[in-house]
Amino acid sequence: MNFRNAQYLVSAARYDQCPPDEGVEVAFAGRSNAGKSSTLNALTGQRNLARTSKTPGRTQLLNFFTVTDDVRLVDLPGFGYAKVPTRVQQAWNRTLDHYFRGRESLQGLVLVSDIRHEPSAFEQQLLDWCSDAGLPVLMVLNKADKLSRNQVAQTVLRRRKVCGSANSALRVIAFSALKKQGLDELRAAVTAMLHAEQAPGEKNPDPTGE
Ligand code: GDP
Repeated sequence: MNFRNAQYLVSAARYDQCPPDEGVEVAFAGRSNAGKSSTLNALTGQRNLARTSKTPGRTQLLNFFTVTDDVRLVDLPGFGYAKVPTRVQQAWNRTLDHYFRGRESLQGLVLVSDIRHEPSAFEQQLLDWCSDAGLPVLMVLNKADKLSRNQVAQTVLRRRKVCGSANSALRVIAFSALKKQGLDELRAAVTAMLHAEQAPGEKNPDPTGE
C-alpha cells in the first residue's frame, strides 16, 4: 500500500458526518503527546499530514484521509487532555462507541502509546470496543528510542501479556517515529489490516473456521 498518497478528506464531529461507509479504513488513536501525529506522518512519509488534525477545532474530530478511492486512514481524537469537560468526554465516548460498533469499513485500530507509560483506562476501553467488534489492534509502543534495547523488549512482552487477554487479535510493536524504527513493520501491519479478506459483515473471521 502506498501510504504516501494519503490526502485529507473530511472531518466528522459525529458519526453521521463520517464519509460513506464503503471500502476499508484503519483508525489511529492515542493519548495526546504519545506521538500519534508523528506516527501518521512517518507512515505516510508526509511531514505535515497529521497537522491537519491538530489545527484548532479539529482535535476533537474524526479526521479522514484517503490513500486510494476505497482505502482511508482515520485520525481519532487525541484523548487525555487535562481540561476536557466531562460532558465533552461523554459526547466523544458516544461517538467513538457508535463508530466502533457501526462502521463496517473499519478493519482495525492502531493504538499509539508512549512506551514509558502504562495503559490508561481509556486505552483499555478502546481495546474492549475492538474486542467486542472483533477488530484487530496494533499497539504501537512509540518513543522506543527513550529506552534501552533490553527495556524495550521487556516492555513489549509485558504489554502483550497485560493487554492480550482483552483482545485476542492484539499485536504489539516497538516503534520510534523519531528514528523511524519499526516503520516497515508498521506499514506491513496496516497494509495487512486493510487487505484482510473477509465475508461481508464479518470483521474478524475465526481463523479456526469454527
Ligand atoms: P500526538 O499529540 O500524539 O499527536 O503527538 P506528537 O506526534 O505531536 O508528538 C508529541 C511529542 O513527542 C513531540 O514533541 C514529538 O516530537 C515527540 N515524539 C513523537 N514521536 C517520538 C519518538 O519516537 N521519540 C521521541 N523521543 N519523541 C517523539
